[in-house]
Amino acid sequence: MNVCVIGTGYVGLVTGVCLAHVGHDVRCVDRDASKIALLERGQSPIYEPHLDDLLATVQASGNLQFTLDLQAGLHDAQVVIIAVGTPPLPSGEPDLSAVEQVALSIGEAIAAHPDAPLRIIVNKSTVPIGSGNWVEALVDEGGARLLARAGGRSDERSRGGTGPLTGRFIVASNPEFLREGSAIADTFYADRIVLGASDSRAIAALREMYAPILEQTFTPPMFLPRPEQLTGVPLVTTDLQSAELIKYAANAFLATKISFINEMSSLCEKVGADILEVARGIGLDPRIGHRFLQAGAGWGGSCFGKDLSALMATQREYHLEPRILEAAVAVNRAQRDRIVIKLQEGLKVLKGRTIGVLGLAFKPGTDDLRDAPALDIARSLVRLGARVRVHDPVAMTRCRQQHPDLDVVYADDPVDLAAGTDALVLVTEWEAYRVLDWRELTAVSRGRLVVDARNALDRERIVAAGWTWVGVGR
Ligand code: NAD
Repeated sequence: MNVCVIGTGYVGLVTGVCLAHVGHDVRCVDRDASKIALLERGQSPIYEPHLDDLLATVQASGNLQFTLDLQAGLHDAQVVIIAVGTPPLPSGEPDLSAVEQVALSIGEAIAAHPDAPLRIIVNKSTVPIGSGNWVEALVDEGGARLLARAGGRSDERSRGGTGPLTGRFIVASNPEFLREGSAIADTFYADRIVLGASDSRAIAALREMYAPILEQTFTPPMFLPRPEQLTGVPLVTTDLQSAELIKYAANAFLATKISFINEMSSLCEKVGADILEVARGIGLDPRIGHRFLQAGAGWGGSCFGKDLSALMATQREYHLEPRILEAAVAVNRAQRDRIVIKLQEGLKVLKGRTIGVLGLAFKPGTDDLRDAPALDIARSLVRLGARVRVHDPVAMTRCRQQHPDLDVVYADDPVDLAAGTDALVLVTEWEAYRVLDWRELTAVSRGRLVVDARNALDRERIVAAGWTWVGVGR
């Protein structure tokens, strides 16, 4: 199938590359010229494990092209996937201006090619409930604008329905569930694919596009073999609103689960219980499950905070009070402060102290810094008078570019980071930090305190090397 993906960020790029790998002819569009230039040279603008390898393979196959020109990208596409960013506005609601702009342009492109086949326009960006209808109206508006500019064809407005493009496109929702750091595996070996549309032709076209993944008939890339026993991916087909709400409800539930275990971890510290034991003991109950029960510095990233804000805004719009989600957000905010308080309690005075922060990315396996707890923690420490040194295996370049105001020193490696520090705090649990040689750090650091904000380090080894280890809820 001919597929056009608009937006080559974490979602759009991974989707485009994976769909090209399973055999579709994919054109990826972005408005960022520097990204497109990099991609045309076969380089990924983001860090995502295996993405460079897969990009090279599919580009060599000729199935994947990149362009800045939306009209060229859309030309013969049967499926048009919108995967542009929907970042939070200061109000907490998502900024839908990129979706709006793209939907209008799609309308213009459809109007400009009256003989093109029916287009299925897919909302993969996370958009508020009701956005399917909104995008439909915008596409029509884009078409009407082009026809008005062309002149003399405004009669198309009333042809066969309410808008000038009626019958030439269908809007569907296909929420994305990939996780940065394992995005390719999450796409090829998804837990489920959710499709929402009111027209069965859209569902049929998207089912066809996803068939190689749904039926697991594609050849897996060498570096990512198919999990044993995976014979197919469940498909959920539903209406637009339900598909849109599934995405928000999933993220809200996961964020709440993390906040729940973090709230329990505070109580563990008071009563002398160990949150690892508590999490194991409750996680063995299949109704609860182990995942997302790791106490620590709390959740961050591009999705949870933004999606919870958007969902709460929608609830309020319908005169509903988001009591559970407000609490989940408040607990998460407090969790970052708790890490700073642990350093304050350990060192007594933060002013004039030097703290080394291990990890900047919001989680391991990515260079994404959006709503990263490490940034908040570093800023709080600076505000309290500490000097802050930071290290991350992949996110330092991005951090320098995106946060030039961050008053920290970037260290070359963990040993350089530890030089002259009074305490270390592990915020992102990169594998490289789990295997640190603590005796080597002892030789260069001033203090012997490490706050393990992810309960990820080997406490015995650290204590044996002469350090004081402080975890979360332990
Ligand atoms: P991103 O910021 O990494 O990428 C968005 C891309 O869209 C950028 O490359 C940007 O240049 C491009 N873009 C913006 N406006 C454009 C326009 N008018 N024309 C062409 N390109 C344009 O965002 P992302 O993380 O990939 O997220 C995309 C959407 O998917 C968001 O709605 C997000 O909430 C959702 N989502 C993200 C994740 C994730 O883990 N990142 C997971 C699930 C869902």
